[in-house]
Amino acid sequence: MWGGGREEWKHFEALVNYLAGTAMDSQRMLIDSFGRVVTDLRISVTSRCNFSCIYCHNEGLGHPPLLDDQEDGEMGPDEIGRYVRLARELGIGSVKLTGGEPLVRRDLEEIVDRCVQHVSDVSLTTNGSALAGRADALRLAGLKRVNVSLDSLDPHAFKDIRRGSLQPVLAGVRAALEAGLKPVKLNLVVMKKTMQYIPAMIDYVGGTKGLKLQLIQFMPELVHHEEWSTDMDELKEWLEKRADSVITREMHHRRIYHLNGAEVEVVDPVRNPEFCANCHRIRLTHDARLKGCLNRNGNLVSLRGLDDYGIRNAFRRVTAERVPYYGVFVRDSEGETILGRRPSSGMGERYLRP
Ligand code: SAM
Ligand code: SF4
Repeated sequence: MWGGGREEWKHFEALVNYLAGTAMDSQRMLIDSFGRVVTDLRISVTSRCNFSCIYCHNEGLGHPPLLDDQEDGEMGPDEIGRYVRLARELGIGSVKLTGGEPLVRRDLEEIVDRCVQHVSDVSLTTNGSALAGRADALRLAGLKRVNVSLDSLDPHAFKDIRRGSLQPVLAGVRAALEAGLKPVKLNLVVMKKTMQYIPAMIDYVGGTKGLKLQLIQFMPELVHHEEWSTDMDELKEWLEKRADSVITREMHHRRIYHLNGAEVEVVDPVRNPEFCANCHRIRLTHDARLKGCLNRNGNLVSLRGLDDYGIRNAFRRVTAERVPYYGVFVRDSEGETILGRRPSSGMGERYLRP
């Protein structure tokens, strides 16, 4: 219902812009050669972070040093707004701001403001440590919802995993709920060390209105610790046995389980062809380079110095080059089709539609 507030007005404006552009023919949309439509833009606003989580992939770009106030080529709010405007023209309907830690940026509210002028569904993924003091301002700027990373409710375990303090993060979660940033999704990275904290997290989420839980499979290839991985199928069976209902989302074909009053979504990309076949996401790095897949760092395309025409073309080019990381059909040099082999840039290989 219309509440007449500034944020509702912003969403209304973005909706009008959206409807003005909905006569979108398939030529204007971003569709890769595997038939995957790109609708979602994930923007890393910084590579800096105040935590040092043991598993961190920092959006696939490795561990950078923490850079105090130095900006290190980061995009400004107007620059980000411009890319979002052009992405919107090409069918992007949701934007997620991430990092590094987005809240290290003092101008994050401005960034949100520029984004929601073009796309109403703008969300944030944060470690939550500085969220308590900024949740209201972010909501006012037009932020819709937030993901807060929380691997355990035990302060010692939390510190052991994330190298930061739990209490400010819990205060951030409460502030986000009070500010109306709903849902607040809690991200728990599933690995041997964190499995034991899942039941308590389900109870916490089930007992708090507005919270949801995301169980994210640990991605070992990014930090080279395969031995930390755990069996996601076993976890899914465990959830299924206890669930009142299970549904499948279109994005990545993620499963959502309802149990003990909690909504629990499983994000399990590793060696999962179904996940990659249903991926609609493209990424923009903190220094304005487009990236077609979290797991690939080759062929990143810089948007800097391009005019609007060049930026649209860059989106199209990066989309055209997207290849599912897992489960792609690859034809080898003898012409044999092999399922599930990870593509490389090796000569003689070519990618086929699954
Ligand atoms: N700093 C913010 C945070 O921690 O939420 C945003 C950036 S962080 C890279 C985004 C998400 O990726 C977090 O939920 C984090 O827990 C998750 N993540 C980081 N490294 C991971 C890994 N190796 N496997 C799975 N998830 C990971
Ligand atoms: Fe990485 Fe986020 Fe942890 Fe920072 S808080 S180290 S960006 S996962």
